[in-house]
Amino acid sequence: MRRPLVAGNWKMNGSLESVRNLLDGIKRGIDEVKNADVAVCPPFVFIPETEKLLAGSVIGWGGQDLSIESSGAYTGEVAASMLNDFGCQYVIVGHSERRTYHAESDELVAKKYAAAQAAGLVPILCVGETLEEREAGVTEQVVARQLDALINLAGVESLTDGVIAYEPVWAIGTGKTATPEQAQDVHAFIRGRVAAKSAEVADGVRILYGGSMKPDNAKELIGKPDIDGGLIGGASLKAEDFLGICTAAN
Ligand code: PEP
Repeated sequence: MRRPLVAGNWKMNGSLESVRNLLDGIKRGIDEVKNADVAVCPPFVFIPETEKLLAGSVIGWGGQDLSIESSGAYTGEVAASMLNDFGCQYVIVGHSERRTYHAESDELVAKKYAAAQAAGLVPILCVGETLEEREAGVTEQVVARQLDALINLAGVESLTDGVIAYEPVWAIGTGKTATPEQAQDVHAFIRGRVAAKSAEVADGVRILYGGSMKPDNAKELIGKPDIDGGLIGGASLKAEDFLGICTAAN
């Protein structure tokens, strides 16, 4: 039985004050959530405050990206060890916004995943197709290519302690959610592809759905057999909405 995970991706949002309010709100409602893991991924600069406010709580936290390098002359980059220093357990890799705006390739994303895992972090590997790709009928090919880059680099065992997030790009921040059936189909495809290499790893790996998940559609999505939680953007910025999704996962 896979334990659901709900992770909030705050993207480039918030101020010190709003972060304090948001975390306070989430903490106040989290006691009800006993059967799901919950985490937030703030912008890097708010991670120290997040650590301060969440230490000792059941809520985990993590980064939204990391460098493949461990230190040195890489202006603007953040190493896995730095995330460790601030108590992060998770890190998102390969979010479609990184792939699109920062030209991150499948190979670079796979290296980021491996760097995170080598440092003891739980990487959340984002995969997903654009609208054009869905309409061209190549969703499975795209997702397979993104997933295979990791399996070829780090082996299927790298998914044992990792997390995959299926995020159709056309559903991110658009208010358009994949139907539970559409999402389930791709999740089942992903699990099947992992199972072709290792049934055991496939059975254990958590596959989250991301793309305009909200309290009112979360239960139906997470109720599908291969959907093990959510990676939440917009709705993770409001304590009530985020908690609503956590409760659905619970
Ligand atoms: C995301 O960016 O990971 C995401 C799922 O965003 P939203 O929930 O806003 O669609």
